Amino acid sequence: MTINIQSQYDHIQTLIQEYEAKYCRPQGSVRFVAVSKHQSIEKIREAYEAGQRAFAENYLQEALIKMESLQDLLIEWHFIGKCQRNKTKAIATHFAWVHSIDNALIAKRLSDHRPAYLPPLNICIQINTSQESEKSGIAITETHTLAKICRELPRLTLRGLMCIPAHENIFAQQRNPYHQLFLEKDNLIKENFSLDTLSMGMSGDMEAAIAEGSTILRLGTLLFGSR
Ligand SMILES: *Cc1c(COP(=O)(O)O)cnc(C)c1O
Repeated sequence: MTINIQSQYDHIQTLIQEYEAKYCRPQGSVRFVAVSKHQSIEKIREAYEAGQRAFAENYLQEALIKMESLQDLLIEWHFIGKCQRNKTKAIATHFAWVHSIDNALIAKRLSDHRPAYLPPLNICIQINTSQESEKSGIAITETHTLAKICRELPRLTLRGLMCIPAHENIFAQQRNPYHQLFLEKDNLIKENFSLDTLSMGMSGDMEAAIAEGSTILRLGTLLFGSR
């Protein structure tokens, strides 16, 4: 069965509005990036025609090929994958956002490489909320230190925090890691960081993420169907 991207897009907008109302979030405070990893150029065009403007990719090489074919569209590109040190120049040149900052050296390199003709690169610090050590992201206790470093880098704008929790089916448990991020963002705001973003929530847990203050959902499967 082929998925109808326009109707999925409309469905997502309706869900977002419902959950904003249900959890007393201001209308329009939650948006989503379309996670287009492993999706074809045609499907990305279809999503664009449906109204989507922000797309997210995990792998630089794959993203660069797509960007080339989609040059005629006004897409805001988000990088959500592992940032390798030798790719920072290309990432800083081709993306508007990087959600997956988890070390100071990478942050510094991205700032150094951000072209002068572009506005500062928007970034989120990725936090590892599950205790699995092989996952990306810093421990939540290290957030303040990395946030301070990022704030001093002239060509980056620290916007907020991001996490990819371990998979959970139970709603209350889906909320736990997102609640931790919500509290951490609040702590940083009290210490005068001006943050406006929580990048959290995927196709399987978007309600839990919105309940806990998500401002950017990252949705792949729900929009495009399975990869
Ligand atoms: C693939 C991916 C998503 C999207 O996941 P879906 O379950 O398909 O919505 C979101 N965030 C990251 C970091 C991903 O790698």
